[in-house]
Amino acid sequence: MSKLLEVKNNVLKGGKHYLTSDYKTRNGERSTHNGMDFVGPNGVDDIIAIEEGTITYTGYDSSGGGYWIGITTNNIQHRYFHLKKESFKVSKGDKISKGQVIATMGSTGNATANCLHFAIYKNGYVDPKPYLMNEDPFGLNNVNSYKMFVKDLQAAIGANVDGIAGPETLSKTPTISTSTGWNHKAVRPLQIYLKSLGYDLGKCGVDGQFGKDMKACIKKYQTDNKLPIIDGKISAKMYTWKKLLKLD
Ligand SMILES: [Zn+2]
Repeated sequence: MSKLLEVKNNVLKGGKHYLTSDYKTRNGERSTHNGMDFVGPNGVDDIIAIEEGTITYTGYDSSGGGYWIGITTNNIQHRYFHLKKESFKVSKGDKISKGQVIATMGSTGNATANCLHFAIYKNGYVDPKPYLMNEDPFGLNNVNSYKMFVKDLQAAIGANVDGIAGPETLSKTPTISTSTGWNHKAVRPLQIYLKSLGYDLGKCGVDGQFGKDMKACIKKYQTDNKLPIIDGKISAKMYTWKKLLKLD
């Protein structure tokens, strides 16, 4: 019936997850099953947060989920159902870290025995399995690399260094192109950021220089983001900077 599932990101303390019912298991009524059901080796196991985030829900679901907790990370909510009410260790608004115990397994709601129903809500329910298996399922590395990019860029262009991009940061952005900015200090943080987004920097890699490879890379970025001008040049205060700084 239940099988041990090897996961990279734990939702049960101790890391042993026995899958009793999968997402959308295709046997009649279970096809609407919007998460995965787990039991642990102890009968009643502590539930831990799969990723750092903010507690955005603690309460009761009358449609069968019982007592549950929702945690939001990078606009994606991870939901833990059938919890034991008296075991709640967190409150709405709390910031919690990956692996932190949030509650204990229970059987509240429509559950026949102690278990965890784990679900992922992202504009509707999606299969939780990739979130259990992938290194960075919530895109936190991208969030962190963006913050680092903004800070390093602000330092390079003489803007106020607070890691938050706004009109002041944008007002100090320079024009960088193969003809104007080969060695501009802003190029290195830009290259590190583009690389973290998966862009190919060509043979030169992160070298702090805006050469032909960077021109091609920026053209690709402008094309991918459907910017109005595709010229491989980053003009001061314009579209490409706005997109890079998420100010558009
Ligand atoms: Zn379930």
